Amino acid sequence: MSYKSDIEIAREANKKPIQEIGAKLGIPGEHLLPYGHDKAKVSQDYITSVQGNKNGKLILVTAINPTPAGEGKTTTTVGLGDGLNRIGQKATVCIREASLGPNFGMKGGAAGGGYAQVVPMEDMNLHFTGDFHAITSAHSLLSAMIDNHIYWGNEEDIDVRRVVWRRVVDMNDRALRQINVSLGGVANGFPREGGFDITVASEVMAILCLSLNLKDLEKRLGDMIVAYRRDRTPVFCRDIKAQGAMTVLLKDAMQPNLVQTLENNPAFVHGGPFANIAHGCNSVIATTTALKISDYVVTEAGFGADLGAEKFMNIKCRKAGLAPDCVVLVATVRAMKMNGGVAKADLGAENVEAVKAGCPNLGRHIENIKSFGVPVVVAINHFVTDTEAEVAAVKDFVATHGAEAVLSRHWELGSEGSEPLARKVVEVAEAGNANFAPLYGDDMALFQKMETIAKRIYRADAVIADKKIRDQLKAWEEQGYGNLPICMAKTQYSFTTDPSVRGAPTGHSVPVREVRLSAGAGFIVAVCGEIMTMPGLPSKPAAENIHLNDGGQIEGLF
Ligand code: ADP
Ligand code: MG
Repeated sequence: MSYKSDIEIAREANKKPIQEIGAKLGIPGEHLLPYGHDKAKVSQDYITSVQGNKNGKLILVTAINPTPAGEGKTTTTVGLGDGLNRIGQKATVCIREASLGPNFGMKGGAAGGGYAQVVPMEDMNLHFTGDFHAITSAHSLLSAMIDNHIYWGNEEDIDVRRVVWRRVVDMNDRALRQINVSLGGVANGFPREGGFDITVASEVMAILCLSLNLKDLEKRLGDMIVAYRRDRTPVFCRDIKAQGAMTVLLKDAMQPNLVQTLENNPAFVHGGPFANIAHGCNSVIATTTALKISDYVVTEAGFGADLGAEKFMNIKCRKAGLAPDCVVLVATVRAMKMNGGVAKADLGAENVEAVKAGCPNLGRHIENIKSFGVPVVVAINHFVTDTEAEVAAVKDFVATHGAEAVLSRHWELGSEGSEPLARKVVEVAEAGNANFAPLYGDDMALFQKMETIAKRIYRADAVIADKKIRDQLKAWEEQGYGNLPICMAKTQYSFTTDPSVRGAPTGHSVPVREVRLSAGAGFIVAVCGEIMTMPGLPSKPAAENIHLNDGGQIEGLF
């Protein structure tokens, strides 16, 4: 049997005008700011007007440690949203926007897959409503104003060797990682080293996604550290006086984007921070708005649960006052097999023993999520190659961990396939057993916060850090940053810092190589491995095969 590609299915979508989708949530037409017929921003006035409403239930979708076999968090998020609507709940999906650059490197969209997709998927993966362009512009304005400040006399006494604010562009361009700027003579300023990151790695992106409103956005932008003086005191964005103009550039980008699933149910697609040096979830404003106008909000966190769910709980929920009612942990039979040692090429053959051998990774994530006080449902994202015996092995294992696994066939069948998962999620969420608490309090020492994450989530014995790093953390505590949460930046493929270690390892330690203060976003990044903030393109970039066909349709994007 052959299956249609994601883009073929998306093209056949029977989209409804965006006003009809908004109406499902009770959003009046005048509060939808349409971008064409199938996308709209939700007005700030409307968002303000619903603040008195009671919140719906919040469901987080996360996953086991990713493997090349694929897990399908977004696909499951969208499928669950449709499943909940199918059983009569008013449910909204909240996911991230896609970065444009990576689409031209390797294929792979951000809008779900099969019969669980958000449309228009081409737009979503390209310019969409221009939010990322606005972020690029706001970031670039500050970059320009810093060099301009130095050029016109450097009143703030910036040490030109210690400018930490880089430049951004939404493109995979390794040539820009490290560059020299202001070359060419006196008229062009003071030469110094600089470099570019991809837009989604900008602190502006993280701030847009954590801000509660425009005032909060402006304050956080002002709090960003852009450089240091010779005496090592920080120079803030507000010292350069850029935060007001940056907020003007970001005004529209702060409004959540409404689109629809293949089954014409509402989806907010808004914001897209990196999941390593940032927290990797869609915007707080989209999630909180959706909660005010839906019975259920289904949202996704990037990477596996050790990173994505941990940051969702300890950063996003803490900052926005959110509390999940249920976590859906996505696992696949294929990924269990890979965790059990099977090579990607051999995943097609039934191998119940390998499935069993891979299950401890899943088990640890179940325990971890429960440690936040939130009940967990395992979703087995069904692949057509899975056998009954393999699925049964996962279900049996999950039962021994005091949870339930539900087979979900949304990729193949849409909401018909995810209805059982939706029913289970409603049962668990309505039981009201969630008693969410972050893993650590605000007042715990910064190093101890890192140890708490490493020991309780990664099951490491220790965090290793040089004196230089510990001294830096102490200095930040003295400067008033001690109450910030930690944003761990480590490999997504393992509980350890070694991507090749699968399963549920113990006895490892977590080396912290570097710490970074994101003073505007409001977290401290602990860098535990190579972090790439400007990706490159592969030897055969996808761009070589992307073109418009004679009918004006995009070919080769997915
Ligand atoms: P994640 O959000 O975890 O990165 P996605 O949901 O974006 O993963 O899925 C990644 C890719 O895997 C998509 O191209 C999607 O079509 C495919 N995929 C997801 N679930 C299935 C499935 N059950 N069967 C086949 N392909 C799937
Ligand atoms: Mg995803």
